[in-house]
Amino acid sequence: MNPEPRSAIERRRMAQLPPGIATRPRDARGYPISFVTALGPDGTPDFTELDGPRRAKAIIEHLCGLCGQPLPLIRAVIGGPQVVEHRLAMDPPMCVECAVFAATHAAAGCPFLLMPNARYRKDRATRPSSPLVAQERPQTMYLARTYAHNGVRLALPDGSEEVLAQCARWTGLQEIRAGELVDARHLLRK
Ligand SMILES: [Zn+2]
Repeated sequence: MNPEPRSAIERRRMAQLPPGIATRPRDARGYPISFVTALGPDGTPDFTELDGPRRAKAIIEHLCGLCGQPLPLIRAVIGGPQVVEHRLAMDPPMCVECAVFAATHAAAGCPFLLMPNARYRKDRATRPSSPLVAQERPQTMYLARTYAHNGVRLALPDGSEEVLAQCARWTGLQEIRAGELVDARHLLRK
């Protein structure tokens, strides 16, 4: 006997989630709502936006940007070549398990991987350019691992400040290619 076909929502609700993400609330379609996902006045998540104060809180208090739990020692950052080069990330570091899940399961609801273009477009209108903060979604995305980060305040040309995660050296680097993780350690400088 074939099992009963399930709706997409039901499949998402049944999906095996990393333990941290499994504790997160879901939206009406069954997508887990990450710790930094912006919520509208009625509580509806906007996956194209990050909640600014919670983004900064996660970086400063060493909470996973996806599940909101305290980070384990080894943590992961998802970003483009600029993030890899400067080790400076706008998005909070994540549990490795959460980051791998977000990188390989786009439907998980990771705001960055799902709808990055909308987010960057909105940001670009209001945010002055900084050489350290990418203004557009990078062509190539990486999952980098490290053992520590600090919250640093970066002054922008308009006088505002952004909290970024300054990471310790990378202990691992993988390229995210169509939902697969491909070893990219050869790109790390000595
Ligand atoms: Zn997590």
